Amino acid sequence: MSTPVYQNFIHGQFLANQSGNTFDVKNPATDTVIYKVEIADESIQQAAIKSAQQGFAQWSAMTPVARSRILLKAVALLRERNDELALVEVLDTGKPMQEANCVDIETGADVIEYFAGLAPTQLGQQQMVGDDFYYTRKEPLGICAGIGAWNYPLQIACWKSGPALAAGNAFIFKPSEETPLGAIKLAEIFIEAGVPAGVFNVVQGAGEVGQWLTAHPQIDKVSFTGEVGTGKKVVASAASTLKDVTMELGGKSPLIVFEDANVEQAVSAAMLGNFYTQGEICTNCTRIYVHKTLYQSFIDELKARTEKNIIAGDPQDLNVNFGALISKKHQELVLSYIDSGLSQGATLLTGGTALSPASAPNGYFVAPTVFVDCHDDMSIVKEEIFGPVMSVLVFEDEDDVIKRANATHLGLAAGVFTQDIKRAHRVIHQLQAGICWINAYGNSPAEMPVGGYKQSGIGRENGVETLDHYTQTKSIYVGMSDIESPF
Ligand code: NDP
Repeated sequence: MSTPVYQNFIHGQFLANQSGNTFDVKNPATDTVIYKVEIADESIQQAAIKSAQQGFAQWSAMTPVARSRILLKAVALLRERNDELALVEVLDTGKPMQEANCVDIETGADVIEYFAGLAPTQLGQQQMVGDDFYYTRKEPLGICAGIGAWNYPLQIACWKSGPALAAGNAFIFKPSEETPLGAIKLAEIFIEAGVPAGVFNVVQGAGEVGQWLTAHPQIDKVSFTGEVGTGKKVVASAASTLKDVTMELGGKSPLIVFEDANVEQAVSAAMLGNFYTQGEICTNCTRIYVHKTLYQSFIDELKARTEKNIIAGDPQDLNVNFGALISKKHQELVLSYIDSGLSQGATLLTGGTALSPASAPNGYFVAPTVFVDCHDDMSIVKEEIFGPVMSVLVFEDEDDVIKRANATHLGLAAGVFTQDIKRAHRVIHQLQAGICWINAYGNSPAEMPVGGYKQSGIGRENGVETLDHYTQTKSIYVGMSDIESPF
């Protein structure tokens, strides 16, 4: 059987490139090429911009209620096709079907639904100034670009396009070249729902295509999800045309477990925040600070449950709860961090090797790994690994652990486990992170703004305020009396 080839999705349909250049997409659980994708060359790039200009003219002229109605149809289609779309994500990312079929599509659809609901609520102001007055209009920015990471490809495309489209913008999305199909499926659904051609185009390729988007003078905003280093390049490039930016970047987030915490619950949070999606989640609590009095019971429970409850294997098997990492290269990177943990003196509590499960022997698996005897200056404690590698550290004093938790240039997320309600809030208020949890970890409903402090990001996704990031305010002064002029 020949390998399928996907083209770029421009103006409501697939469009062939002129160069004929393609890239391969592999299933990380099998190490086999599953399809090819045409790279967005000059001809595609020009077509994408022209189409988005046309799409913007039509979409921005519609009433917010009309846009909302269409977006809600797309939401219904996403939910109807949940399992089919979940399979696309499983094959592209290597994550378990038991996650994708209840999280990835659901949470993407939720966000589009949320912003579709908010679209008609965008209000301007009006105020008298003497006999004159002014009023304001919230107008869309124009053409916005989205650049996505590979861990939640379809969800990221929904989280970025939802508020952008609800506010009346056109959108050009570039998925990661590791996971390009989810965005195409979303583009097809938007068209089927009645979104006009050109309002959501998908361009494919690696960093160069992303770079082109960030520098293009006709693009008004870039919303980026990815690594801190790439984010800095995106901001620098966007500055050349003074584009608005939203940056959702990496993290090295702390979870603090106090002596009065429920150990079982805290271990559940630590495992979810390190092993869900095989550790490839930006908000993961990869630094777990456990109070000295609870330390032994915490690591005993953690080791027992990690060794007993995690099932690695063919991600399509609904019993499997732990999938393959995105690529061979990433597997090697994660393993090199494990080596550095060992050479810098940490002790392996469990894991620490590549895995080759019987049902997916060629997949890029790394065992769920826990290091103990960790120190704050070790590379595994300081740097984002983006894999299933947890570092457990001990603390005794509240003020000291807050200082240690904040001693990083990153600030995406943080968590606290304690039964003491005053301490919970007191500590969380001092943690330098944009997304915080108390006696919970990882929940991210559409209503809640998410984004990073420090070098973990700029701006927010989700929540009411995000709609503002996709609009600009126009102030209109209305003169009601004669102009007084010295000329
Ligand atoms: P990268 O930064 O490597 O890539 C992100 C996207 O940027 C990809 O589509 C990539 O293309 C593209 N890109 C690469 N170079 C450039 C450039 N110069 N200009 C514009 N675009 C470019 O991140 P990963 O895909 O490896 O994703 C993992 C990272 O994402 C982690 O750091 C993680 O923490 C972060 N992340 C943050 C989230 C958040 O909400 N804060 C959520 C999820 C992930 P290609 O890959 O095709 O080359």
